[in-house]
Amino acid sequence: MAREIKIMTTRKLVGSVLMGTATLLGLLTVGNARPLPRQGQSQDDELQMGQEVFNELKAKGEIVESSPLYDQLRPIADAITKAAQPRYNHPFKFYLVHETQPNAFATPGGNVYVVDSLLYFVKNREELAGTLCHEVSHTIHHDTVTLMEKQKKIEEREVGAAVLLGPTRAHILAIALLGKLHSLSYSRDVESQADITGSDVCAATGYNPWGLVWLFQDFKDAKIGHIPQLLSDHPNDQHRVDALEQHFQKNPSVFGKFNSDTKSATPFVVPKDAPEVFLR
Ligand SMILES: [Zn+2]
Repeated sequence: MAREIKIMTTRKLVGSVLMGTATLLGLLTVGNARPLPRQGQSQDDELQMGQEVFNELKAKGEIVESSPLYDQLRPIADAITKAAQPRYNHPFKFYLVHETQPNAFATPGGNVYVVDSLLYFVKNREELAGTLCHEVSHTIHHDTVTLMEKQKKIEEREVGAAVLLGPTRAHILAIALLGKLHSLSYSRDVESQADITGSDVCAATGYNPWGLVWLFQDFKDAKIGHIPQLLSDHPNDQHRVDALEQHFQKNPSVFGKFNSDTKSATPFVVPKDAPEVFLR
């Protein structure tokens, strides 16, 4: 499909698919009395949700098509993809996006978005890898679609049957996701599970899974307001760090070889003011 580029190939986009917010909302309002597909289609729904978010980010001009920053991201993204792909049935694809707050987010369907400023924000390679492994794990666990479904159910109760007619279920969930893209409020347990699976994925890549713990610890004492969105969405929680450490201790054959000391971290260096070409 010409709608997407893989960072590995960064081939030029042919054709254009424009579906801005107005179009999305227009479809939602007009509707066409199609029944909502239900059980058994959730996998395809995930793909559709992911595609709608991609279209929206592209329409906003946020997706970086090419940049030297991809040279830094690509080896880590490739390693994580290799380790995580057996756990998910749609291909993982990593995209850089340009936003002000350092952040990373994954959408259903396999796309993972890495805000460019995150590459400058992390203190070492392991912290970046840990963050991306965590995000990929939300996709593996289907956390986003579960959360959106929960929220839509509450809304359906509030607005009655109107929302049940017309657009597909995936479309409704995609709209809900677009509104919450940067403030998904997962429960502590859901976050902790993503940490645990993320640490497994990280260990399988060979990147030190302590990176996620280091990231938490670096910003433990930061003042609210100075905490980047990445961590205020995923607040520091000693329970999460404890759960990770317990997981490491319980599985010495997997985690025993990794050094918990930040001094063992690999520096992550990115070119300053790297140019970016945006996908249009
Ligand atoms: Zn998370």
